[in-house]
Amino acid sequence: MKRPLTKIQWQPFHRLVSPGLTIIAVVTLIAIIFAQEFLSWQSEVERHEQSLLQVARSFSQHVDDTIDQSTLALADLRSEIDDEYGTSAIKDKLNAMMRAQVAASHRLGSLIFINAQGDLVASSAPHPPANVNFADRDYFRLHRDNIQQGTVIGLPITDRLTGKAGFTLSRRYERLGRGSFAGVISATVPLAYLESFLGSFDIGQEGTLLLMRADGIALMRNPHRQDVLGKDMSGYGLFTRQLKERTVGTYHYLSQTDGRERIAAFVKSPQTGMVVLVSASQDETLSRWIGNARGRWMSLGIAVLLVCYASWRSLRQSRLRLQRERDVTAREAEFRSLAEASADVIQRLDENGIRHYVSPAGERMYGKPAADLIGTCITEGLSADDASRVEDVLRRLRAGASTDTVLVGRVNGQGEKIWVEASFTRTSIPGESQRFSVVVVTRDVTRHKVSHDQLDTLAHTDALTGLANRRALEMRLAKAVEDLNSGEACLALLMIDADRFKHYNDRYGHIAGDRCLEAIAAVIRAAASRSGDVAARYGGEEIVVLLPGATLENARVVAERIRAAVQDLGVEHQDNQPWGKVTVSIGVASLSARALEVPTKLVEEADKALYQAKSLGRNTIVMSEAHS
Ligand code: GH3
Ligand code: MG
Ligand code: MG
Repeated sequence: MKRPLTKIQWQPFHRLVSPGLTIIAVVTLIAIIFAQEFLSWQSEVERHEQSLLQVARSFSQHVDDTIDQSTLALADLRSEIDDEYGTSAIKDKLNAMMRAQVAASHRLGSLIFINAQGDLVASSAPHPPANVNFADRDYFRLHRDNIQQGTVIGLPITDRLTGKAGFTLSRRYERLGRGSFAGVISATVPLAYLESFLGSFDIGQEGTLLLMRADGIALMRNPHRQDVLGKDMSGYGLFTRQLKERTVGTYHYLSQTDGRERIAAFVKSPQTGMVVLVSASQDETLSRWIGNARGRWMSLGIAVLLVCYASWRSLRQSRLRLQRERDVTAREAEFRSLAEASADVIQRLDENGIRHYVSPAGERMYGKPAADLIGTCITEGLSADDASRVEDVLRRLRAGASTDTVLVGRVNGQGEKIWVEASFTRTSIPGESQRFSVVVVTRDVTRHKVSHDQLDTLAHTDALTGLANRRALEMRLAKAVEDLNSGEACLALLMIDADRFKHYNDRYGHIAGDRCLEAIAAVIRAAASRSGDVAARYGGEEIVVLLPGATLENARVVAERIRAAVQDLGVEHQDNQPWGKVTVSIGVASLSARALEVPTKLVEEADKALYQAKSLGRNTIVMSEAHS
């Protein structure tokens, strides 16, 4: 069994671009771009975290180096003190050594050696204040009360020798072998030096650095804040959470000062236990990133707007196009259903009369299937006269007329002669201002025309005699006088009256009288048979014959022919003596060219002549004298 082939229906592209698809495409595009932007933001944050970590590592390393160097200096001093202890030169030697060490390194603010009572024995200061005592310092008390050896990192202080802020590194001094407290050797690390090192890094406008001891005591804050120095930070998340898990890392936290999120990096030195925390404002990082991203977003926004606008326009246009197509199809369908249901033939022509559409009823009228008529001219099959009248209609439409109607005769498909009324209507072609089409409604009006013609004939015919009636005579007479005035040579009129007809009726009866009148009429019709001649019943038993172009003499000949023919009929009429037959008397009048007479004048003249004929004895002809 053969499978039927599936017909693939290709949709025009614009029908595929539905609003739903456009919205999905735009939303997907925006989602992808936003995902990328989010990743970019994350990598920016990560990059920032790494750069903060880098700062923290460098600073931590620097602090370690500083502590190392200071520890070495303290160790050197201890050896020197051991060597010189108790000698008179110890003070000068130590002073010189300390000054040399401080001068050699920016990392050291000052160096001092104090005895077990806290009094200054030697220092790096060129002019130390007299009787200065350090027994109140924390580190002094610590070393005095603890036998613990090694370097101790002290609290933030203001150096009594230099007046500068810093923190101390100190160690207990004991006399060799005895284990008894003999004083403290202390170095001050100036914060200014550490701050100047920090200056080479960029941690942003809102970036901060905090240097803390392993127990959480803050030694330095940059930017400087006095209230933070010496503060115990061990309760903060850095110590309670972060440093519990790792010694190096990054994290985010909410600032307790302004409630804004901060990015932080920390390093805890494995050698010294010093903790460096560098933090920056996330908003600052974000605003820098937004500044960079703004250009991209603007381009994206413009692109999205353009896509939306283009989709909207394309959608609107395709909707309008679809609507137009639907309208056209609906109109076509409506036109066809009307045209095809109509008994009239509906045709569409171009401006030259060529058929482009013919409704099915055309087959009966033209004897061909409607399809075979397409491309033919509307004037085909018409007589030359009718064709030229249709051409005239088309010409008038081309000149701007909107409608016109014409009646033409033609032979239909069954070979019958029919009358066709064609109504032409000019219709514009959408989108074309110069050209137009013509709708023709063609109707078979044969029956209508025939009955109209019959009525017309009846209205102008005398029922008894079949001659023209008086109304028809008056019209023809007026026309004949008009023709005379516009150039016809002459015109004659006979007024014919049956002689003693009253008596005829009386003797032979009215019906016989009618038959007699019919016979007289037939004779007259035969006598006045030239084209243009009119025989009309004027009233009663009077008959008028109009003879356009006839001279008085011509008219006399016709009148004589009639008079003789009636007599020759030989209809018995005993009361019409001496003939005993039906006879007629005739008055003849005529008009010649440029007479400018009124029609009634001619009748009056003929009537007068008739009257004379009667008085002359009847069965005779009298010629009117009145003519010009
Ligand atoms: P005259 O010779 O003078 O014409 O005499 P007349 O009798 O014919 O006189 P008149 O013309 O006055 O009379 C007309 C008569 O014709 C009157 C009427 O009886 C008769 N008549 C008129 N019309 C008809 C008609 O239609 N049928 C018949 N049968 N007779 C008609
Ligand atoms: Mg009469
Ligand atoms: Mg009469």
